[in-house]
Amino acid sequence: MAPAFRIGSIEVHRLDDGPFWLDGGQMFGIVPKVLWSKECPVDADNRMAMACNCYLLISGGRRTLVDAGLGRDWDDKSRRIYGVDASAPTLLDRLGALGLGPGDIDRVLLTHLHFDHCGWATVPDGSGGHRPTFPNAEHLVHRLEWDDAHDPEARGAASYFDRLYDPLKAAGQLRLLEGGPEFALGQGLEALVTGGHTRGHLAWMLESQGHRAIGLADLCPLAAHRRERWLTAFDLYPVEALAVKRRLLGAAEAGNWAVFLNHEPDRPARRPVRRSAHLDLDPLEAGIQCSTADRADSDAARLT
Ligand SMILES: [Zn+2]
Repeated sequence: MAPAFRIGSIEVHRLDDGPFWLDGGQMFGIVPKVLWSKECPVDADNRMAMACNCYLLISGGRRTLVDAGLGRDWDDKSRRIYGVDASAPTLLDRLGALGLGPGDIDRVLLTHLHFDHCGWATVPDGSGGHRPTFPNAEHLVHRLEWDDAHDPEARGAASYFDRLYDPLKAAGQLRLLEGGPEFALGQGLEALVTGGHTRGHLAWMLESQGHRAIGLADLCPLAAHRRERWLTAFDLYPVEALAVKRRLLGAAEAGNWAVFLNHEPDRPARRPVRRSAHLDLDPLEAGIQCSTADRADSDAARLT
């Protein structure tokens, strides 16, 4: 079994459902290619390989999956556009390598409902519909995200596919988080509505035995996005995204928290380190305690 990351008594396993390929311009919005391409090389079609990191949290005997990958239920055209590699190990393969099956997941926290975050939430049911992949899991989504995912007029409508999440509601396996911005979810897990990327986008935080970590989801998809003004073209509310990313990365730096990245292919568990004026995110290795005990005011990351 691949070693886990440890945040206090919480085990964190990275389960990569990628790779898939996205346009470099989309990933860096208004940032000129001459700047970002030094750190993130692209292919002849200007695409870059992205991981699709989901995280399995094991705490207090409960197994929580954060995000559900890209899935494999895509037509040929989408497979070509996104370079989905049919032979790459999937989220379910990686769960299997830990000795776990879909029935072993107790809950799934979906940071948002873009297709690369909930792809495995459902699978084809063999009769033209879809059914939940994780039969015993409660799925958590913010109400604003749920509403926006069902708005056909929304600017981001092309990123949402009802078949990936509507069956969760039909099966009684959906719990909408209302209000916020913070939700204590038990077992050391907290969700935080950030906005920025989408209105109902969630970050997640872990706290155990004085150790802390944060998952920024698509507010900081790659390590290159540690620069606060490097935002993606997918961020619907870029000014808000900049402000909340600045605040949360600042809190992670002050508290020496581990930072988990959603789409970074290269060692996506990181630690903020400031070098002169620049904030770097240095790789953390699995099998060790990931953060030092909290030495900052834990309220630093509060949005209220
Ligand atoms: Zn994403």
